[in-house]
Amino acid sequence: MAATALVIDDDRDVQLLSKLLLEQHGFAVETVGSLGELVRQPSLLEATLILLDLELGEFTGLDILDYLYDLRLNAAILLISASASENVTRAIDAGRAKGLQMLGFLPKSGFLTGLPAFLSPLEAKAGMPTAEDLTQALEGGELFLVYQPQQDLQRGAIKGVEALVRWQHPTLGLLFPDSFIPMAEKHGLIGALTWQVLELALAQQVRWQAKGWALNVAVNVPADFVKEEGVIESFKRLKSHYVTGPARLTLELTESVGIECLNYARHVLEALRDLGCRLSLDDFGTGYSSLRQLYRLPFDELKVDRSFVSLMEQDDAARAISLSVIDLGKRMGLEVVAEGIETQVQLDLLTEAGCSMGQGYYLARPQSAAAFEQWLGERRSHESAQPASTPSFSSTC
Ligand code: C2E
Ligand code: MG
Ligand code: MG
Repeated sequence: MAATALVIDDDRDVQLLSKLLLEQHGFAVETVGSLGELVRQPSLLEATLILLDLELGEFTGLDILDYLYDLRLNAAILLISASASENVTRAIDAGRAKGLQMLGFLPKSGFLTGLPAFLSPLEAKAGMPTAEDLTQALEGGELFLVYQPQQDLQRGAIKGVEALVRWQHPTLGLLFPDSFIPMAEKHGLIGALTWQVLELALAQQVRWQAKGWALNVAVNVPADFVKEEGVIESFKRLKSHYVTGPARLTLELTESVGIECLNYARHVLEALRDLGCRLSLDDFGTGYSSLRQLYRLPFDELKVDRSFVSLMEQDDAARAISLSVIDLGKRMGLEVVAEGIETQVQLDLLTEAGCSMGQGYYLARPQSAAAFEQWLGERRSHESAQPASTPSFSSTC
């Protein structure tokens, strides 16, 4: 399959010229002239290369970069503009800080001569990661974690983080879990990946502990984790290496956990709980049989799926579901975590409903351990100077 390039520019001349040049280099090329056309462009998600004009009608290149980041695109992005300017440098820096693959900048005047130099390194990049790539990644330390803060909504304090896996692929760039977790599950690599993620998360928790920060760390584990051979023994061994003081490890399981073996799942989960883990039911409301699992399995926490939270403001049904899940969790004595909080209104609705914890881009995006430490340090010094907490935005991964 040919690699796909997407040209985002309202200048028809640039559209046609780039299409011609890129097709000569074997790309299938689509062109769009506005953000409206971009969001309707089906080839966007498959694009290997995006040429992005920085001056696009009412939107700036930075707006579009935010949009591309939210879509978790792995495409390489080449900025084009009439001339080099501070905006170009700022956009490249902002894109890189988010983990986007920013190739650099090409002035429109130098298009014909400049473009080929950017294309050759991309030839190897077309396509998806393979199982062999992932095996190497697991051996070579290409996987790393980013951390999204979880806030006590009633008191404002940051209680912990959710650890989210990322893969810095040598040729494909930064990969998000949706592009490799299903493949890891299909090729029997998810067990090795999960143990590696658990090790990374616990090691980080110990480092924070040494700084005097007792932060809970939540790790996503696949539904089949409970069926791993020797899971309890392996877990015991792992925990004995990392002494994390009062901070807790939460295992986030999705709704299909133990679906066909509830008694066995209950046994394993209780043993993991005895070993000091908290258990969380992630993405609640999106799977099936969830009430039965909630009833039969020993969860400590329920996560309201972000698909409900994100629609709370405008959709009565989504609000009713979110509020009912919070109520259900409270009645069962569970901690309720709302995920995907993106606005102040959502935050207020959840806080008023008595939701205990929350996370989402409005509070903070997932970020590297170093960026998180800086964010938390600044936040805590700000809080001690001025008690009322205000949400702050941060750089992302
Ligand atoms: P999840 O556990 O429900 O994680 C939350 C996802 O929502 C994360 O995406 C996070 O970046 C994103 N998110 C957080 N706040 C917001 C927000 O305000 N708005 C929006 N639009 N998104 C938000 P990410 O990191 O791409 O992870 C996607 C899923 O991949 C996770 O969903 C989890 O199911 C899975 N995953 C992540 N890390 C791991 C891992 O280490 N192991 C396994 N097995 N699965 C993982
Ligand atoms: Mg999760
Ligand atoms: Mg979730």
